[in-house]
Amino acid sequence: MTVDLELLIRAPRVVSGERGEPEQARAIAVSHGRIEAVGPVDSPAAARTVLELGSDVVVLPGLIDPHVHACEPGNTGWEGFATATRAAAAGGVTTLVDMPLDSVPTTVTAQALAIKRSAADGQCHVDVGFWGGVIPGNLGRLEPLHKAGVLGFKCFLANSGSEGFPPLNARQMRDALAILRDLGSVLLVHAESAEAMAATGEAHGPSYAGYLATRPRGVENLAVAEVIEAARASRGHAHIVHLSSSDALPMIASARREGVRLTAETCPHYLALTAEEIGDGATAFKCSPPVREAANRELLWDGLRAGILDFIASDHSPSTAAMKELGGSDFGAAWGGISSLQLGLPIVWTEAHHRGVPLSQVAGWMARAPAEFAGLPAKGRIAPGFDADFCIFAPDETFVVDPKRLHHRHPVTPYAGRNLRGVVRSTILRGEVVDGQRPRGQLLARQAA
Ligand SMILES: [Zn+2]
Repeated sequence: MTVDLELLIRAPRVVSGERGEPEQARAIAVSHGRIEAVGPVDSPAAARTVLELGSDVVVLPGLIDPHVHACEPGNTGWEGFATATRAAAAGGVTTLVDMPLDSVPTTVTAQALAIKRSAADGQCHVDVGFWGGVIPGNLGRLEPLHKAGVLGFKCFLANSGSEGFPPLNARQMRDALAILRDLGSVLLVHAESAEAMAATGEAHGPSYAGYLATRPRGVENLAVAEVIEAARASRGHAHIVHLSSSDALPMIASARREGVRLTAETCPHYLALTAEEIGDGATAFKCSPPVREAANRELLWDGLRAGILDFIASDHSPSTAAMKELGGSDFGAAWGGISSLQLGLPIVWTEAHHRGVPLSQVAGWMARAPAEFAGLPAKGRIAPGFDADFCIFAPDETFVVDPKRLHHRHPVTPYAGRNLRGVVRSTILRGEVVDGQRPRGQLLARQAA
């Protein structure tokens, strides 16, 4: 190893994020914010800072969360880049990708992207990339947005709840996929069917069962089928965000076997929470698609282990506490969205550990795979040439979720009081610990092929 190093980490437990690679003892050498070398733990080397870690912690690649609603500019009262990225760092996340719909303006033109970038600039504690949006009428604007550096595009097939972000119909989705195929980009789809939901009606009142009945699995299943056929016909790459319905897993698997370019993610809440435990009026649990039954949750775990689901993303979707209607307890009126950016790793690790899933696999789902998906070639792994982004994680330590310790702007959480396994001790971005004081995060743009 070279001697001109900023940082040398000697750790008995390192999970590299490489496919199939188990935990092992390693020395990690860092210079100029990048990983210079990874070698045996006792490799001779000197550095300005040497971090000797104990066997109570594991060094993971910094996590990549490709599904975050930062809501800035325009709805900074809901979240904002400063609070979102501070929460991310506290959760071991070193890169997040912001969704195009909860800001004003929505990120549907290159100009709107420039406005968003300047809003984010200088206040991010971790790296931030951006998805662009596809809405009816902006198909001619996708290429300029792509050239301006968005990592890919997002659309809805049902009401998004954002005035500046109307849904596409199946035909428009297919046309968008054809354009993005030629650009070499991807279309992320919120797969709930407007048509199916029109028939199930609106939720009213405090009953969770009542809310669930308005968004049955069929609402997702129908939309997923539409996404599959649009991807098949266009030969574009479609990605299903936040899959909750386990019914859709066999459809996704068979479409892939047939060569359809399709990927899918699920979220910590679908892997941890169950409809059975949600009390009436508990609107902190409201999200869409909804949290379903325990049996559905187990099938999602099977889908992850089988590789039908590619990775896990938070779908951090904040609002004010008033919008969550914690007092009113009406599932119809409450904001649909769960904020879990800071808690994603312990939530997933708690459930994974129960099921005998190793941390190396979790790192694949929360670092390597989302980095590959978002086209971030320097992220998601501990290997030479990669950014020196790490999460120092104590996997056997437990804690009780205290909303007061969350850095989200509004610490409303369905996980309050829950006992979770795994504590993020520190987060390192480009070789330096993120301190929450000096924002050193960079704004990421798509790397030209
Ligand atoms: Zn979302």
